[in-house]
Amino acid sequence: MSHTSSLNTSAFMAELMAKNPAEPEFHQAVHEVVESLDHFLDENPKYKHARILERITEPERVIMFRVPWVNDKGEMRVNRGYRIEMNSAIGPYKGGLRFHPTVNLGILKFLAFEQVFKNSLTTLPMGGGKGGSDFDPKGKSDNEVMRFCQSFMTELYRHIGPNTDVPAGDIGVGGREIGFLYGQYKRIVNEFTGVLTGKGLNWGGSLIRPEATGYGNVYFAQEMLNTLGESFNGKTVLVSGSGNVAQFTVEKVNDLGGKVVTLSDSSGYIYDPDGISPEKLKYVMFLKNNKRGRIKEYADKYGVKYVEGQRPWGEKGDIALPSATQNEINETEAITLVGNGCKCVSEGANMPSTPEAIEIFIDKGILFGPGKAANAGGVAVSGLEMAQNSMRLNWTREEVDKRLQLIMHSIHKTCCQYGTKDNGFINYVDGANIGGFVKVADAMMAQGAV
Ligand code: NDP
Repeated sequence: MSHTSSLNTSAFMAELMAKNPAEPEFHQAVHEVVESLDHFLDENPKYKHARILERITEPERVIMFRVPWVNDKGEMRVNRGYRIEMNSAIGPYKGGLRFHPTVNLGILKFLAFEQVFKNSLTTLPMGGGKGGSDFDPKGKSDNEVMRFCQSFMTELYRHIGPNTDVPAGDIGVGGREIGFLYGQYKRIVNEFTGVLTGKGLNWGGSLIRPEATGYGNVYFAQEMLNTLGESFNGKTVLVSGSGNVAQFTVEKVNDLGGKVVTLSDSSGYIYDPDGISPEKLKYVMFLKNNKRGRIKEYADKYGVKYVEGQRPWGEKGDIALPSATQNEINETEAITLVGNGCKCVSEGANMPSTPEAIEIFIDKGILFGPGKAANAGGVAVSGLEMAQNSMRLNWTREEVDKRLQLIMHSIHKTCCQYGTKDNGFINYVDGANIGGFVKVADAMMAQGAV
């Protein structure tokens, strides 16, 4: 816990940690929010009297279930499934499903907690949730993934619905998995409804949904750069990850005249000093989405540097857009980044910077966009997918992209409203936490003891 914690924050955290043991990521996410809210709650005691912090950190419902499935060799396998229904004060629970061997209850609670604030910031009527499984799709055949998804949905279907809880994709859950999950839901419930987002375009999906998180993060970073009269044009950009978010981040940075020199996966990173051109990006998409290969193959194909077991933060760049996973930039890496001239960090992933790294970014006064603001474009377009499903209409690519840009602009404005300090510095962490909190807290107060 940071040395700047007040007595109030420390006492609250001690109680939360005793009540939720062995969930370090959840503690980390809550701690960041309560630190941001400290003064705000002193100035607005009605939230304290209503015990909003105690309520907002307690999930409305946690569902854990067995997911049995049979592999291609006919052997029985068992994974654990989860859905955290965190908060429904401003709309149905909404948030992705993560399939990754690292998934556990604490990680999903951190993600569901972050989602509550993020969804509130989007201006759309969505509550917060998150779910997933410790199932690892890597190395599994399409049939194995399908059998797993069908088994997962055979339990999950009873807890979700278009007006109750609307899951989406996250790490390890892309178009293929959403398809299998949706097919099984429809068979069981016998309804064609917008119960999942990230659907295929010809069966209820929205244009720009796959692009939304990456594009949205670049739009958010662009808003931050604007405050200094800067832009992406001519800038060198470090990106981590090589999945959905990373790929469309590269696409949009290229559109805006920047040059992305790194990508990574959990095995290592590549460094391409000439930049990942649109043509090379096509190869990355094929490699990751069709061939389900490793990023090392990029280095083999284009003859560039590959660094096994490392993250890309030691390379030189003006802007960093972490887009892989939580806690992927530590204090040392943050010091290196800033020392190498990085002026802007905008989080495509959820909580990729450790608290110590964030402290460095803020102390050094660089532009730092926290994930709950910067990567909210994904869930925002999921919200737009829900709206289109309800109307049984499809908007054009331009219409959805325009709305996404407006939403990212509005999130940035909210961050400035709540995060601008007396000296003019914009603390986007405080801005996002307070801005996201107010709407949900007011709704909870209006709804009584919920
Ligand atoms: P993908 O599964 O498409 O890609 C994830 C990428 O991150 C892969 O390159 C993966 O490498 C890497 N990665 C995953 N776990 C680890 C790990 N423990 N250590 C190092 N690298 C890792 O997921 P997304 O692109 O959808 O998600 C990336 C991040 O963005 C996540 O934090 C997610 O929560 C966040 N996010 C995603 C949204 C979306 O719309 N998809 C919305 C908002 C946030 P490998 O293949 O080796 O595992």
